[in-house]
Amino acid sequence: MNGQVQLGKLTRREFRQRMGSGELKAAILPLAATEQHLEHLAMEHDWRSAQHIAVEVALKLAPQVVVAEPLQVGISEHHMSHPGTLTLQPGTMMVVVSDLIDSLIRGGFHNILLLNGHGGNVAPFNNVWDQYLRKFQVNLQFLPYWDVLTQEDAELLETKVLPGHAQEFETAFGLAAFPDNVRTDMWEDQDDKAPALATAENGQILIDRTVDRVATYLQEMIDGQRVAEVPAFFP
Ligand SMILES: [Zn+2]
Repeated sequence: MNGQVQLGKLTRREFRQRMGSGELKAAILPLAATEQHLEHLAMEHDWRSAQHIAVEVALKLAPQVVVAEPLQVGISEHHMSHPGTLTLQPGTMMVVVSDLIDSLIRGGFHNILLLNGHGGNVAPFNNVWDQYLRKFQVNLQFLPYWDVLTQEDAELLETKVLPGHAQEFETAFGLAAFPDNVRTDMWEDQDDKAPALATAENGQILIDRTVDRVATYLQEMIDGQRVAEVPAFFP
């Protein structure tokens, strides 16, 4: 059977057989953004990083998990002064994500992790979360992937700050996971010098810790130890 972890790589037959056998226990839906990341880091950083963590987590928990196609655009109005940034209005994003969750539930999933890679999505999702939980009645969780890291992890960085927009952490992540996205010839050229402190070594250490902890989080969801509490309806 095809052990591929990305949903879009499966045929309908492979998906049907794996879901039918009871092998598939959870889906990850990566959410993020395509937006300016200073002069030195490619605009895809947020969705690529969320997708990277999601795929590594799914491989670690294979064959229980598939990764749905990432939502590559998020709520980025605050970056629109930099041309090239793409943004969705909050209401648009909530509708799209609601439809994607609905699709995953209709595909057979009861454990769904929205793995977020963009800070601007956090407050809007927190605002609607109780409505999603009431509507969908499944074990639905929203996790910005850096939430599993602590101040102790941040100590690894010269700036001791994470996540930070296009700063040392995101730049280190890029150097470790997709170095083509980091223009090391540009980072001295901008006012903000903190990104130049990034190293691929630190990036890989922080990626590995993130993958381990998100995998634990998702395995707890699968095992019934981490269950979203659906708020009560009005009597
Ligand atoms: Zn970012």
